[in-house]
Amino acid sequence: MDSVPVSEPQALPLIPVPPVGERDRRPGLAGLDQADLGRWFAERRQPGYRVRQLFDHVWQASAVSADELRTLPAALREEVEQAFRIDTLVETEVRPADAGLTEKALHRIDDGRLVESVLMRYPARGQRRWRATACISSQAGCAVGCPFCATGELGFMRDLTTAEIVDQARFWRRRLAAEGRRLTNIVFMGMGEPFLNADAVLAAAEALSDPRRFGMGARHITISTSGVIPGMERLIEMRPQYTLAVSLHAARPELRDVLVPLNRRYPVGDVVAAATAYSRQTGRRVSYEYVMIDGINDTPRDGDELARLLDGRHAHVNLIPMNPVAHTPWQASPRERIDDFAAGLRQAGIRTTVRRNRGFEIGAACGQLAADQAGAPAPAAVARRRELLVSRSAAALAGVQTARG
Ligand code: SAH
Ligand code: SF4
Repeated sequence: MDSVPVSEPQALPLIPVPPVGERDRRPGLAGLDQADLGRWFAERRQPGYRVRQLFDHVWQASAVSADELRTLPAALREEVEQAFRIDTLVETEVRPADAGLTEKALHRIDDGRLVESVLMRYPARGQRRWRATACISSQAGCAVGCPFCATGELGFMRDLTTAEIVDQARFWRRRLAAEGRRLTNIVFMGMGEPFLNADAVLAAAEALSDPRRFGMGARHITISTSGVIPGMERLIEMRPQYTLAVSLHAARPELRDVLVPLNRRYPVGDVVAAATAYSRQTGRRVSYEYVMIDGINDTPRDGDELARLLDGRHAHVNLIPMNPVAHTPWQASPRERIDDFAAGLRQAGIRTTVRRNRGFEIGAACGQLAADQAGAPAPAAVARRRELLVSRSAAALAGVQTARG
């Protein structure tokens, strides 16, 4: 993985990393492709069709235990279980919100760490069919440390493996199948920065979009990045049809340095240029995510700068009211200000959507459940962090004003 991208000392992580257990050395089945499994079966002189049988259990039936591998003889089933994990999610707690339309899962993985995923159901409306989107995590914690994000507060713990990423999608597909429904979209917008775990994430996206494995159309898979340019460049080389989302949150470099500390390493102009290259390569529109924070990044001037930055690009802006996070001094912009901001962007010819915050009451902004579970940080650390955020954002805003006279 890339080194931690921030040069200045951070006020993060705020919450101490919990003690962790041993890793399970058995690879997760969902992280293997047909060739990997084929070799394993060949070594055991098993007929080739066994691979397909096991594959069907993993990918068609979303099996989670060896008991479910019914087409395999009992002895082979046991051997499979000794060599591999059928599911890498050891235990999952699900909490409902939005009258059951949203569900938030807290998954425990082998070493006891917790990662989150969320399912959002969108009932059919007019021409739009019923949809269900799973939001999945790519890392336990995150090293980028955006100060409005609950995952950022946790700091970085570890990368998830390909199987741990894919198993979150299998979890929701299985749950929906029990309702007679299908999963229609997957977004990498849970915990972690996907392109700081690019190998596992790109392998997971490939497994999810492979018609012989998970079989989700690439256009229905969105990878969201805070702007890790090398990862974006890898995506450009691969020429897939995934949707790219870029977490922008500020167009002005001084402010983006505070809101997305990675901006010091990968400046916003270069990030947008890389996203534009992806959009040229694939013909796909890029989504720009912009969390609306009261009094921080929601002024008319911010809107103008954003419009200028995205002018003439194949772009779509999503404005997201900030979900309150326990330890920041900030809150969501008022609704009218968000609407004005959106109107300004639209007037400048930029496609813009205001997103409703789903799962608000259970803390659906990524990482909030895991942060709650990790326990409360010391009040002095919280106070210091708040002060730091207030002074850094004030300095960034004052800097911009002086620079422009
Ligand atoms: N690390 C990647 C993907 C995970 S974060 C990224 O930053 O793009 C997914 C999205 O959730 C990002 O757009 C992020 O800015 C947003 N998010 C994080 N904390 C939030 C909060 N408190 N309220 C609203 N959105 C938040
Ligand atoms: Fe990491 Fe994304 Fe949260 Fe920033 S918003 S800390 S990049 S997970």
